Amino acid sequence: MARDPVCGMEVREDVPHRSEYEGRTYYFCCRGCKVEFDRDPRRYAESGDPDAGESRH
Ligand SMILES: [Zn+2]
Repeated sequence: MARDPVCGMEVREDVPHRSEYEGRTYYFCCRGCKVEFDRDPRRYAESGDPDAGESRH
């Protein structure tokens, strides 16, 4: 299972709604969450993965 970084739901990794950002693949429960992620991927990617290796601020 993967976690939808936008709404926090657990989603199957075979869902058609997915995006790649900085070499990682993110999965979404629906198209709306993917669109939201694509609008501002850094916001969601950082909040869902504190060990991404980038400085926080
Ligand atoms: Zn969602």
